[in-house]
Amino acid sequence: MTASAPATAPEIKYAPGVYTIHFCTPIGDPNRPRAFARHYVGAAKSVGYRIDQHNRSAGFGNLIHIANARGIPWIVASVTYTDTASAAFALEKRLKHNGHHADRCPICKERT
Ligand SMILES: [Zn+2]
Repeated sequence: MTASAPATAPEIKYAPGVYTIHFCTPIGDPNRPRAFARHYVGAAKSVGYRIDQHNRSAGFGNLIHIANARGIPWIVASVTYTDTASAAFALEKRLKHNGHHADRCPICKERT
């Protein structure tokens, strides 16, 4: 369930890259407030194909799947395209390691 896109919506291409998804409602266990997630960072050989899969809730037991099941809208906040899939997965690893996804999220920035 994709929410209406922000003014700065990234172009979705069928190319390798890393994408950040922003959840309109944080996802998590209300009993563990620190475990709430507002973003999902993913990499794919084809970002467009993977976003289609997320829209259909296909294939994964991940946060997007949970958001769709709970009716929580989400937005593709940003995409960084890479030359190769392996470059995309390396960048994903680095971004996940660095954390602070809100600092790089255009939607969170618009609201602050
Ligand atoms: Zn955000």
